[in-house]
Parts: sequence; structure tokens; C-alpha cells
Amino acid sequence: MSITVVGSIAFDSVKTPFGERERMLGGAAVHFALAASFLADVCVVGPVGDDFGEEQLEVMRRRGVDVSDIERAAGGKTFFWRGEYGWDLNSRETLDTQLGVFEGFQPKLSERSRASDVLFLANIQPELQLEVRRQLPHARFVALDSMNLWIDVARDSLVRAIESVDCVILNDAELRQLTGKPNLVSAAREILSWTPSVAPGSEQARGPRVVVAKQGEYGAALITPDSFFALPAYPLETVIDPTGAGDTFAGGFVAYIAAHPQEALSDELLRRAMAHATVLASFNVEEFGTERIERLTGAEIVARIHELQAMTQFSEAPLALRA
Ligand code: AMP
Repeated sequence: MSITVVGSIAFDSVKTPFGERERMLGGAAVHFALAASFLADVCVVGPVGDDFGEEQLEVMRRRGVDVSDIERAAGGKTFFWRGEYGWDLNSRETLDTQLGVFEGFQPKLSERSRASDVLFLANIQPELQLEVRRQLPHARFVALDSMNLWIDVARDSLVRAIESVDCVILNDAELRQLTGKPNLVSAAREILSWTPSVAPGSEQARGPRVVVAKQGEYGAALITPDSFFALPAYPLETVIDPTGAGDTFAGGFVAYIAAHPQEALSDELLRRAMAHATVLASFNVEEFGTERIERLTGAEIVARIHELQAMTQFSEAPLALRA
């Protein structure tokens, strides 16, 4: 029932058509952990600098997130990202990325975080993802996210990292960029065919068997070797800041699987995980950064799951079609 996550822990400066924020709490691992904390225990692994305060740690602690594997690197600077969105909130421009303490970071996981049965390799250098993967060789379920930057500058390491996991969660454009396939389904099929050349210390390593394609405001698709499923995004009239939506989605998806340790990784389970992921992501974008998720309640999540279920159901139409 517990998840370990490694990924960026950050300060984000974000501008959208609806406002801007300077140096708010962000990072892939943070957004993931806050969302996942509604369904499972979460340990966050990663470094922060002197500029990261108790106030930021407290946001995670308040949601019961275990922050004891967050290392403070004396004299270092916390990962920093600056991005700007135009009217099309599906696309954004990265204006600055400063790895700070992630450069040269050597993850040393505590016994507690190595004992997790589920692992999420959130967006960060693929070499670091691999390093953490090696420290949890027996995890029951391992998922990974990444981004265009790492496809551009560290593709080989990223492919090795992907080969070491069960599930890949990427934006549809990233799936196409990574595989060179113009079509989403064929890109996913290509990834599902990858198998590890060197197993990371375990007989369990068999290559990815689930691909999730995130499609921004259009929702997300799930592709396995023998099935396809898709959900629209929960329709919102007001989206303020999409930053972290992908990580929040991953938090809901992976934590739903972590919360069902007795269930096989069936389509049924994966589809319910998709619904929880979709709903959590929909709350994240309603306000800047982590603001909305910080005061989200379980009752709000359940109500929106019901609404999403109602709006995605349809009955078969027994109509004789004119040939
Ligand atoms: P998302 O909107 O879900 O794609 O994720 C946004 C988060 O990713 C922000 O909070 C950033 O701090 C973080 N981020 C942006 N660029 C990078 C990067 N190159 N490596 C790791 N995390 C990043």
C-alpha cells in the first residue's frame, strides 16, 4: 500500500492568461505525492537546497506524505522551473530550467522507501530514475513519466529506464517523439514491444505492459497489449494553471493501483485507476500550483468520480442499420 516516488521537487514560476505566481511549491514528485496521498502512503525521494523551507515540507506532511528521504544539500539550490502558457493551455513554453541540487545527486533510499511495493519514477534525469529503480528491484508495480527535454538530451538512458518499468505515462506528443511513430496507438505498441536487455536485478523485469497517453484537455488513453480505453478530461469551465496536471494524474493512477494490492493488473482495475487520475488532475488545474489539491477533500473526489462515470456511459443502440 505504499509508494516511493523520485522526481523533481521544485520552485515554479508560472504565468498563465489568468495570473502569475513566483517560486511556488512545485515539481513532479510533489504534485504526484499530494495526489497519491488521497489513496496510499507515499515516500518522496529527492534533494532540495537551502532555499527550501519547513513551510514547503509542511504542505506534504499535512497530507501524510513521508518526507524523511528528502535530502537537504547544504549550499545548494532547489530545482527551479519557469513556464508560460498562452490562451491554448495545452501548450506551454519553458523559459528556464535550473537543475540545481539534482546535478550530481546520488539517491540513497532509506529502508522505508525501499520497502514500498509500488514505485513511481516521476520526471527527472533518466539516469536518476534508473538509479532509484535499481534500489527497488522487487517492486510489484513500477511506472515512469518523462518529458521532451530528456528525449532530446538523454534518449538512450530514457529507453533503458522505460524498459525497466511496467507502465509508461507520457504526453501523446512525447510518445510520438520518443518512438518516431506518427500515430498514438502505433507509438504505444512500439513501447509495449520493448524488453530489457539487462534486467535491473530482478526476474520481474519484463518491459512495459501498460502505456498511458496524456492528452491535456482532451483526456487520456490507456493502451495494453490487448486493450484500448480512453476517458475525456472532466469538463471544466475555468482552468487557471495546468502545471502539474500530468503528475497529479499519475499520482491518482498509480496510487489507485497501489491501493489494490490483491487485485491483478486487469483492464477493470486500470480503467478505475484512469477515472481517479482524471478526477484528481481536474482539481489540480482549477488553481495555481498545489493550491487546490491542498484543500481538496475525499468527498469532493468521490462526487466527481460519480459525475465522470455518468457522463461517459452510453447504452447500446439496437437499431438495424441501413446497409
Ligand atoms: P506537468 O505540468 O505535469 O508536466 O509538470 C510540471 C512540473 O514539472 C513542474 O512543477 C516543474 O517543476 C516540473 N518540471 C519542469 N521541467 C522539468 C524537468 N526538466 N525535469 C523535471 N521536472 C520538471
